[in-house]
Amino acid sequence: MRPDQRTQQRDFLLEITRAITAQLDLSEVLRRVLHASLVMLAGRVGVVALGDKHDNRFSLRAYSGISADDVPELNGKLQELMNPQDEGGFSRDFLNSKLREMADLIDPRLAQSIAMPLVFARKPLGLLIVFRSYQTAITPEDLDTLQSFADQAAIAVNNAQLYGEINQERQRLEAILNNSGDGVFILKPDLSFQQVNRAFERMTGWPQEDSVDRPKSDVIVWDSLESRDIEDALDAGWAQDSARGAGPDALYVEGDLLRRDGMKISIGITYAPMLTEDGRLESIIANVRDISNFRKAQEMQSVFISTVHHELRTPIAIIKGYASTLGRDDVEWDSAVIRENLAIIEDEADRLTNLVEDLLTASKIQAARELRLNLADTDLRAIAARSVERLEGQTSHSIVMSFPEDFPVIPGDEIRLRQVIENLLTNAIKYSPEDKTITVGGRFTEKSVTVFVRDEGAGIPKDQIDKVYERFYRVDDNLTSRTQGAGLGLYLVKAIVEAHGGEISAKSQIGSGSTFFFTLPRD
Ligand code: ADP
Repeated sequence: MRPDQRTQQRDFLLEITRAITAQLDLSEVLRRVLHASLVMLAGRVGVVALGDKHDNRFSLRAYSGISADDVPELNGKLQELMNPQDEGGFSRDFLNSKLREMADLIDPRLAQSIAMPLVFARKPLGLLIVFRSYQTAITPEDLDTLQSFADQAAIAVNNAQLYGEINQERQRLEAILNNSGDGVFILKPDLSFQQVNRAFERMTGWPQEDSVDRPKSDVIVWDSLESRDIEDALDAGWAQDSARGAGPDALYVEGDLLRRDGMKISIGITYAPMLTEDGRLESIIANVRDISNFRKAQEMQSVFISTVHHELRTPIAIIKGYASTLGRDDVEWDSAVIRENLAIIEDEADRLTNLVEDLLTASKIQAARELRLNLADTDLRAIAARSVERLEGQTSHSIVMSFPEDFPVIPGDEIRLRQVIENLLTNAIKYSPEDKTITVGGRFTEKSVTVFVRDEGAGIPKDQIDKVYERFYRVDDNLTSRTQGAGLGLYLVKAIVEAHGGEISAKSQIGSGSTFFFTLPRD
């Protein structure tokens, strides 16, 4: 090779290497390889064919001197060349005959072809072919030169494949992250956000674009924290400890987070350090779980235990007190006192039974999330009348009925609906002074009936009126704390009404009374 040719070859190789390291796209690199090959080998037409990783099919990826119309047919020829069907296989003659067919297809005047495989780490990746329009000897230098370009092309193809794989992997990870129900975020060593997922966005109210690069403490603002957070742990050498294999890798932190909109949620964060090979902290991956429901359940459990404890203890203490009084040997009780005391014992036993029944129903509702009903024609007015009659004997309130004569019968579960009316009446009795009036009445339309229970009692504060239907909820006031109750009555009332496809609501004015309404469909 002449010295000027050598210089030219070197310049081409440099240019191609630069294109590869600058991570230009693969087609651009192949185009440069082809150009260099054609100039150096004085070729007229050139092609680079690559195999598909999945189906092993070869096709042209770069070409020069060919009309685009010929490409599909050339791809067919390449297929025959690279995946020979006949047993003769990949002999020199076979190769030459296929190259000849390709040359004829492109331009019958093409007189000579030189083909060089693209191989990386023994893996055949493709083929570089140069066609000349004249016949001449193919020198070892020609082959050498083409080989050097083919090698460069093979490196570029391999890089592109690796890059594609990494990219695919990254997309897969991103899809997993974004579809995860748990919040995930990655912190840089300076504790600013590198990445956050959608669930984390939803939990904190901070969109991705606002949180990335921002300090963690801007986004994770604790209202209360139960243990030390990552900052303290890092100061105490958490990352170094886990690099040395001393101490636990993961750090768990739990507390109430102040969201961007000011709302509070309870979360638990598990941090795990990502270390470089020499043990330096590279990033911190964190998994965030919304534990508000878990906390609520815990809270409810403790309210449940204290309510049940209190509500069971009182009647049991009364029953025990009266029973042991009656059982004293040193006193002769007259029959009137005995009857009175036994009546009290019976009342308290009834209260216990009701409480246990309410608890059972409540837990059934919670487990099945609905109530089973035995539907039959039900006369709510008659049910109300019987309940009023029964309760009137137990209180000095005056209870008034206010139903229209033609109040319709509806499909309903009579036993459950009696529970609804009695619960509402009992509440009206419990939460209003004895000298006041309680009204139970109804109205109806073509589609539905509504029953209401009105009292002239203390009323319910506005901010708590929607909460009274929660399990074990009792209004935080003096009157309630002086009155017995487990906070289950309205929970059951609401569940029963909703199981009938109805709705419950309440209106209340502090100091002047409350009215509870429930509406049920007529069909
Ligand atoms: P409880 O067993 O405590 O009566 P409920 O579920 O029936 O439980 O009622 C929940 C809370 O709602 C009660 O503790 C009480 O504070 C409030 N409440 C219910 N009905 C009335 C009413 N008619 N007037 C005032 N407050 C009421």
